[in-house]
Amino acid sequence: MAHPKTERTLVIVKPDGVQRALVGEIMKRFENVGLKLVAIKMTTTSAEHVEKHYTLDPEWRRITGEKTISSYKEKGAAPPSEDPYEVTAVILENLKRYMVAGPIVPMIWEGAHAVKVVRKLVGSTEPLSSAPGTIRGDYVLDSYPMSDTDGRAIRNLIHASGSPSEAEAEIKHWFKPEEIVRYRRMQDAIVYSPELDDYLEQ
Ligand code: ADP
Ligand code: MG
Repeated sequence: MAHPKTERTLVIVKPDGVQRALVGEIMKRFENVGLKLVAIKMTTTSAEHVEKHYTLDPEWRRITGEKTISSYKEKGAAPPSEDPYEVTAVILENLKRYMVAGPIVPMIWEGAHAVKVVRKLVGSTEPLSSAPGTIRGDYVLDSYPMSDTDGRAIRNLIHASGSPSEAEAEIKHWFKPEEIVRYRRMQDAIVYSPELDDYLEQ
């Protein structure tokens, strides 16, 4: 089995993150926790590429629709439809408009439990419900009722892979193998090495 420290996740700073000059702040949080940056680029994307990205997981349409419906119900509000696929069709159209609106910054972070750690730091999808201390909780005001009223996607700064298998497929979708850099970082010894006897002068 591969060592947990080799896990990778895909993060994309979305157009609102770039426009609000939060790329550095977002990256700092992943650096601070000990993850290693192994690929990064600034680019623009197309509606087709965005649709493919979100539907790499065949379950995404159902899950996203169900998540949105239950979030309405938790707030005591009526969802736009009871059919998760209908709910997601509208979300996906709005998402495509959002993601092509400006430059984005896809990147790959590597380290132990990279997928879970990044999702924890990013916070939940709807910023109104994201915990304080998370990136979405700290930097975004958006909510489902507001984005629905305005007929747009939730602006929540970042995409982050939801599982290691999703990450693997998404990484292939955004990066060529030669764009990913393999290197050793000096600080990794204190993060991962089982030995701690290298630090005191004899
Ligand atoms: P996450 O980005 O947290 O993994 P999802 O995969 O469920 O969230 O959805 C992808 C993106 O679609 C979200 O980050 C958000 O920008 C947008 N989105 C999801 N659900 C809704 C919704 N109910 N209304 C508006 N936009 C949404
Ligand atoms: Mg997702």
